[in-house]
Amino acid sequence: MGKTLMTTCKMCRREGVSLCGKEKCALTRRNFPPGVHGPAQAMKKPRLSSYGLQLREKQKAKRLYNIMERQFSRYFEAASAKKGNKADHLIQTLEHRLDNVVYRLGFGKTRRQARQMVGHGFILVDGKLVDIPSYSVNVGEVITFKESKKAKGLLTGMSERVQKKEAPRWLTVDSATLIGKVTSLPEGEDLKTIFDPTLIVEFYSR
Ligand code: ZN
Repeated sequence: MGKTLMTTCKMCRREGVSLCGKEKCALTRRNFPPGVHGPAQAMKKPRLSSYGLQLREKQKAKRLYNIMERQFSRYFEAASAKKGNKADHLIQTLEHRLDNVVYRLGFGKTRRQARQMVGHGFILVDGKLVDIPSYSVNVGEVITFKESKKAKGLLTGMSERVQKKEAPRWLTVDSATLIGKVTSLPEGEDLKTIFDPTLIVEFYSR
């Protein structure tokens, strides 16, 4: 794992937006950039050029989904090759990653934890083990836990958590059986996110 995959609250504070997915994000306690000059930086926000703004949004997106530059630019290329809105395609691609789906279903507390569950072989897609976090889940595919992993105590309290967490409209999940399904692509409201994908499209279109 490269350095840029680090999901710490230092990163949340740098971007001024919670990226870690933790309930107790440090941003809520210390809403200024990290480091000794952090509080001063918060006072006089640097004016960013349009390039700077575009770059910032791209960093936010990469950090939110824990994706390295090479993979991210590949996602953009794939999104660009499709007809229609590139920004929408980009978000749909990011959201349909298996690690993100596991997080959205409420199986993982954070995207980081969800990625570990996938990487450690906890997750089945249509009954087959898939341990690749970047796997792109197709509409109609069913996400479940490997039966032998269920005994390990990891799933304790998960049903309650899944029940509490409202899954987006493009997913269905049964909190009792922990069976999730991807029913569509995210559309409309479900494409709203903490970064501006149009600025990312602009960045790569330069
Ligand atoms: Zn945080």
